[in-house]
Amino acid sequence: MSDPRTIIAALQSCNTILISVHKSPDGDALGSQLALMLALEKMGKTVTAHNLDPVPEIYRFLPHQARIASGPVVTGRFDAMIVLDSDPPRTGLFAGDYPAAKLINIDHHITNPRLWPLTWLDAAASATGEMIYKLLLEAGLPIDRDMALCLYTSIFTDTGSFRYSNTSPECMRISATLLEAGADPWLVTENVYESYSFNRLKLLGTVLGDMERSPDKRMAWVVVTDELFHKTGTTAEDTDNFVNYVRSVSGVEVAILFRQTAQKQYKISLRSKGRVDLSSLAQALGGGGHKNAAGSTLDGTLEDIKRKVLGEVAKVILSQMGN
Ligand code: AMP
Ligand code: MN
Ligand code: MN
Repeated sequence: MSDPRTIIAALQSCNTILISVHKSPDGDALGSQLALMLALEKMGKTVTAHNLDPVPEIYRFLPHQARIASGPVVTGRFDAMIVLDSDPPRTGLFAGDYPAAKLINIDHHITNPRLWPLTWLDAAASATGEMIYKLLLEAGLPIDRDMALCLYTSIFTDTGSFRYSNTSPECMRISATLLEAGADPWLVTENVYESYSFNRLKLLGTVLGDMERSPDKRMAWVVVTDELFHKTGTTAEDTDNFVNYVRSVSGVEVAILFRQTAQKQYKISLRSKGRVDLSSLAQALGGGGHKNAAGSTLDGTLEDIKRKVLGEVAKVILSQMGN
């Protein structure tokens, strides 16, 4: 296991650096990526930011986001590659053959298998952005307004606007510092939570209209199919946060979103209210995450995947909460 100091030392001799984050990037991944990119450039490094998936519409207010390239092909070799906010395979890039001499992984997911020699994992961090803040502090790099906005976005989104259990005194202190450095909180709120497309809300209405729950009412779920995306003129990024509405039902302990990603493939998002730990289950299903928020992508028909996932979740609820 690595730490900020070791990572800074390892980067000293590197000139060209690639930074990548997980597929379907979120506010934490993108905020961390941009803040680190800007910081490394201040150190005189040549930085390439490249992810599998493009920056979602709601994050296009982030400074310099247009510099993040996307797509399955990354050309060139780099002195170092840094993967943020996920384990390296979840970038969906390179199929294990990474184009750099030094491989650095900075993440806060407890399920990260820690396979890279330079892995810094802090499962207690509210967001990867909190870790990047500490890295910059350790490196003695001043945080300018753009970097502050990016890191504030990381912490704000990954804590569900300072509501989830990962909200800590430390992340609030750091956020206060970021506001002092010039981050505009309403700019983030308006773009991330008050700029939904009309079609997204129509999709939400349809999806919630078909919400189901288990007989004991402790498990509830919704499904979004390709057909529904097509019918409503929406895409995967329009389902961001849908699962939280399902969790918000009184009595529900675990909420599940099944989102179609290919003809016979579904992404599942799992959310717990805190009495059920979902991280091991998500890992057993080939994914990962945190105690209260985890996910995976499964191959099969909707019917088969639903039967399997609902059966496994019911077992976990029973074993951790009893009858
Ligand atoms: P999501 O349901 O995609 O919002 O993800 C919930 C949490 O689980 C986030 O912290 C994700 O980074 C994490 N997560 C989702 N899918 C995976 C996966 N396949 N492998 C590891 N972590 C995941
Ligand atoms: Mn993330
Ligand atoms: Mn995160």
